[in-house]
Amino acid sequence: MRPLADGVWLLSGFPPNAINVYLVEDVLVDAGTRHARRRILRQLRGRKVAAHALTHVHPDHQGSSKEVCAALSIPFWVPERDAAAAENPALIAKTSPDHFLPRLAMRHWVGPGRRVDRILREADDVAGFRVLEVPGHTPGQVAYWRESDRVLVLGDVLNNLNVMTGIPGLHEPPWFLTTDPAENRRSARRLLPLEPRLVLFGHGGPLRDTRKFVDFVGALPA
Ligand SMILES: [Zn+2]
Repeated sequence: MRPLADGVWLLSGFPPNAINVYLVEDVLVDAGTRHARRRILRQLRGRKVAAHALTHVHPDHQGSSKEVCAALSIPFWVPERDAAAAENPALIAKTSPDHFLPRLAMRHWVGPGRRVDRILREADDVAGFRVLEVPGHTPGQVAYWRESDRVLVLGDVLNNLNVMTGIPGLHEPPWFLTTDPAENRRSARRLLPLEPRLVLFGHGGPLRDTRKFVDFVGALPA
């Protein structure tokens, strides 16, 4: 695991930064695909983990959620409007565009549903981070924000690589993986005034360039 900020680590994965999983204090944020279980549990060995939270319920974020919660005997925390799909992943397809890639992810990556123990809402506290509702990519997506050192865990509001080619760079998530692209863009704009010092993405490496984030979001078309 790689330390990124006070109490924040990025678990290693392959290819690096393709699908990110973070340990934030004692909360595991996201859980990769259903094939990620072993690598996640291996890296968490010897660490205190008290809960598992999602940024949003997509197969590349909830895939190993049930297994990790079971192995560590920890509760599952999910944003309000993604909670039904976290318990019954067949519902993910209902809010995914009609495109072969989400269908492929559902076939090869999705994990089993799991009872949700805590519903996350705007302004809730998760390991010292504030929950921000940033819907659009999924109906319920949230980001996690720590004002004291301006760290933002962003989920897939933006990607810091091209998810099709793996080439680094800031992008909006592709329309064919996004429930409501216009709403997602409004959510991105909402984050602009935060001027985060460190942005942690679901896909792509950490970004420590506040200017780059602000300029990118500021330049998004209306
Ligand atoms: Zn994703």
